[in-house]
Amino acid sequence: MNKLFTIFGNPVSHSISPLLHNYTIRAFGINACYGRTMLENPKYFRETFLKCGFNGANITVPLKETAFENCDEIYGIANNIKAVNTIINKNGKLIGYNTDASGFYESIKEFKGIKSALILGAGGTAKAIANILKTKEIKATVLNRSEKRIKYFLDNDFEAFSWSNFYPKKYDIIINTTSAGLKDNAFPLEENLLNALIKTSYYCIDVIYNKQTPFLKLAKKQNKPHKDGADMLLYQAVLAFEIFFNYQYKKNDIEKHMKYVFGHLLKI
Ligand code: NDP
Repeated sequence: MNKLFTIFGNPVSHSISPLLHNYTIRAFGINACYGRTMLENPKYFRETFLKCGFNGANITVPLKETAFENCDEIYGIANNIKAVNTIINKNGKLIGYNTDASGFYESIKEFKGIKSALILGAGGTAKAIANILKTKEIKATVLNRSEKRIKYFLDNDFEAFSWSNFYPKKYDIIINTTSAGLKDNAFPLEENLLNALIKTSYYCIDVIYNKQTPFLKLAKKQNKPHKDGADMLLYQAVLAFEIFFNYQYKKNDIEKHMKYVFGHLLKI
């Protein structure tokens, strides 16, 4: 039977998910296709999903919370994050998952012995990362520019600060989840403070991909092991593919095909 998948977002033209999934679908000889769906009005999320007959979907900015609200059942850590990036359609019921969280954890597995983390930023990605770290018994502290988004973290028993009340400590890993550095050359935090935090850390990671951000440049300057968000992107897709096809295909094989796309087809 033909299967149809998509990525929902606004905008969505930039997404590399169709490339990753379609290449892998083809490599396995599956009769399926993965497209793009730009949704301007979140109100029509569920209706669009069902009317188009999608078997599954990924969801990107700004629809992850909308997707969460429109699912009939939520599995796993997505319940804590309250955002969904992967959905399957089970006989007309939408089942939601969050693979950003586990994708992030897969991406830092090479960094050994992490016990504490400082997460810069308090948006959706920070929520996913803070929650997965908690399940792995890594103490996550959140630091955000402004106060509003801190509430979620305090309400969920995380240590969380805004710039105005932050007391720096030593953290094993510094994680940038802000969009500082995405389209500009901004630091996610005042440069001197950031430098001091990096100095006492072991590792640095930025979830922004395809760019050496000013934050990563500082990490490099201090000879700290560091990486961008490309592996996070890769692994969230690998885990979503497993869910789409009910774990019929080996994770290592999915990863191998998707890595090929990263290495050979994409200049990201
Ligand atoms: P949100 O819009 O939900 O949150 C953005 C956060 O960044 C807010 O906490 C905001 O602070 C902070 N911020 C924005 N600009 C600055 C700045 N100049 N200085 C300091 N803080 C700033 O975004 P998301 O969590 O959805 O996404 C964040 C990043 O993660 C994006 O760059 C996105 O591309 C990337 N991403 C990467 C993925 C991957 O697979 N590699 C997956 C998903 C996202 P405030 O509250 O004060 O406004």
